[in-house]
Amino acid sequence: MLVTPAAATELITTHLAALPSEDCPLAAAHGRVLRQTITADRPLPPFDRITMDGFAVRSADLTDSSVERRLRCTGFQAAGMMAQTLAASGLCIEVATGAVLPNGTDAVIPYEETERDGETIIIPAGAVCESGQSLHRTGSDVATGTTLVAPGTRLSGREIAVAATVGAAQLRVAVRPSVAILATGDELVEVDAPHVGPHQIRRSNDYALRAALLQSGLTGRIERFHLRDHRPEIDATLRRVLAEFDLVLLTGGVSKGKLDHIPKALAELGVTNHLHGVAQRPGKPLWFGTSSRRTPVFALPGNPVSTYTCLHRYVLPALRHQLGATPPPPETVRLAEPFRFAKPLAFMLPVQVRDDGAGGRAAHPAPFNTSGDLGGLLGTDGFVELPAEATDFAAGDTFTFWRWT
Ligand code: AMP
Ligand code: MG
Repeated sequence: MLVTPAAATELITTHLAALPSEDCPLAAAHGRVLRQTITADRPLPPFDRITMDGFAVRSADLTDSSVERRLRCTGFQAAGMMAQTLAASGLCIEVATGAVLPNGTDAVIPYEETERDGETIIIPAGAVCESGQSLHRTGSDVATGTTLVAPGTRLSGREIAVAATVGAAQLRVAVRPSVAILATGDELVEVDAPHVGPHQIRRSNDYALRAALLQSGLTGRIERFHLRDHRPEIDATLRRVLAEFDLVLLTGGVSKGKLDHIPKALAELGVTNHLHGVAQRPGKPLWFGTSSRRTPVFALPGNPVSTYTCLHRYVLPALRHQLGATPPPPETVRLAEPFRFAKPLAFMLPVQVRDDGAGGRAAHPAPFNTSGDLGGLLGTDGFVELPAEATDFAAGDTFTFWRWT
């Protein structure tokens, strides 16, 4: 029975097991999904931090800005030095950006606002000095114990910087699953085959899936296989990959054809089927199941556009779910032109998304010729999901947008 795309997502999600966690050195953690909370181990900034090169002073010494004032400079404090102490009023300490505010001082006058005569620092009439100027006070960014990064975050340079700042040299992250990609079909030959018969085609799906997965950064080791439409061969390889890999993706052999062996082979190898058929084009024959080890198995329709669309619509969200990644907020776009699709199926329409000139984003339909026309996807940014309930979609209507990785 066909289910809606939303119901298919629900069915898939229900049967997914969370992937385990592991420790990862900070320098290798970019792109990983965080499985812990990163908190501030001390206040930030951790001390009263000087923000201008100049002179640390006691603002009480300099209250009358209508006259010229003079202070004697008693030393220099660089970033990384322990706090010095101002001995008495009428004195100042030369300081560098990033240094700790010396004890007994409460403001910094930048070099630009002073003149110097040997050890005498002259603050001209008119220059105002207020307590706290040119300083970041201790804890003014965050207090000790504050949550800085939550579990589920994909780690980018910003989170890595925060983790480094609070001393998190190792981070608990989700294990990236190993993936087996199996392209099925007697008609498939290798890309570098010296001769391609008129009845043969070069394998492209497994390359496309691998590239998109690598680009997503969600997976670990990826291995590609070719299966001929031959049960013993299918069974032997499937048995091996089900034992060895965390995720199994098949392409082709999943429809109603005489040599579409995949659903039967998977069932006989103990993979429980949860979904076979989604009311959508392209991608209607999509098959999903889980093995006895709870390995998810997606058998994607062989047509290249179907395969690529199903990867983005179902497999990548499933991976994010297993990794515990916070789902990205759904994106919507407006159709730039009317579009008609008269079948009672959802339509995954490839689009180019462009600025609409009025502050929004407009999706320009780039319908493919046949679902084998992977070249038709070149230059597109993703696809919009047009629901099965309607047949005529007006310019300006808003739809969910799925972005290619
Ligand atoms: P199937 O789902 O096996 O009936 O395949 C549907 C269509 O997709 C057929 O035209 C296949 O030749 C084509 N196809 C299947 N697998 C691949 C692949 N790995 N690369 C390119 N085309 C494929
Ligand atoms: Mg086939």
